[in-house]
Amino acid sequence: MDAVEARSWITLDAAKKLLADCGQDFDALKKSAITKEFRPVTLNAKDNIDIKQQLRAFKSHNVIGKLDGSDPKLQDEYVIYTAHWDHLGCNPELQGDQIFNGAIDNASGVASLIQLAAAFTKVNPPTKCSDLFMATTAEEAGLLVAKFYAEHPLYPLEKTLADINIDTVNPWGKTRDIENLSDNNSTLDDLLAATAKRNGRVMTPNSQPEKGGSYRADHSEFSKRGLPALYTAGGKDFIGKPVDFGQQKKDDYTAHHYDRVSDEIDPSWDLSGVVQDIQLLFEIGYQVANGDKFPEWKPGAEFKVKRDCNVQKVVPIDR
Ligand SMILES: [Zn+2]
Repeated sequence: MDAVEARSWITLDAAKKLLADCGQDFDALKKSAITKEFRPVTLNAKDNIDIKQQLRAFKSHNVIGKLDGSDPKLQDEYVIYTAHWDHLGCNPELQGDQIFNGAIDNASGVASLIQLAAAFTKVNPPTKCSDLFMATTAEEAGLLVAKFYAEHPLYPLEKTLADINIDTVNPWGKTRDIENLSDNNSTLDDLLAATAKRNGRVMTPNSQPEKGGSYRADHSEFSKRGLPALYTAGGKDFIGKPVDFGQQKKDDYTAHHYDRVSDEIDPSWDLSGVVQDIQLLFEIGYQVANGDKFPEWKPGAEFKVKRDCNVQKVVPIDR
């Protein structure tokens, strides 16, 4: 049998202890890991893990649409929007409904992607660079095909300005805020903050960074290869609703519907909040596409070196 990669998460404390047991200093390594000179360090640590699984080979496809830019000089530069179309399939061991419909996660994102593409065909003036709209597959299997695309892009990543990823939307009405899960480390975050402000809204930081949300969605596979990315979640401060309404709705979704067969369309949804968020993401993509600079990682950002080494020497940052 082929070797199988096992991936998991460990807590920061466990990571620090593991490194200390191997004679390494976590803080020192982390500091040096954002420099060009850093080289991976082999730990003399071993573990035995037993995993029982059945492997099944199958084919699945990303679906991508391209809208040509209007400026011949910038037509071979791209802004890419992504949303995963796959979900968990079905489970014949369950009683009743056995289908993981994934209405919020992530049919809502795919519907948004299609609407964004439609909007970009109508906007006047059109974008100078080309726009890509990609529905990715196998996100739920570990971001597999976003990773494949980032490693084998149809359009070069060094000529791609940004990825804007949509993975679940807010179906409970309009909010004053929008949450930035990208952890505030590229100029796209500043653009989100400014665009939200212009729309009378406010960008809030990732409220649960310990959950690693910025590494658990497709955009992170692009970021790992240096591409600045934006990934937002719907806000929590709902207009005309009690203060704790948003958190309650999110907690209820996570506890009872997330990754379950009950993630289905609910007739009581108020989709005005999705419209609000997707219009914001439209405005951001439009500004990036027509901007005079490539978005950049901020100093010290984890993936800045990757972009600087592999990408920006190919394409000047000023357009
Ligand atoms: Zn998802």
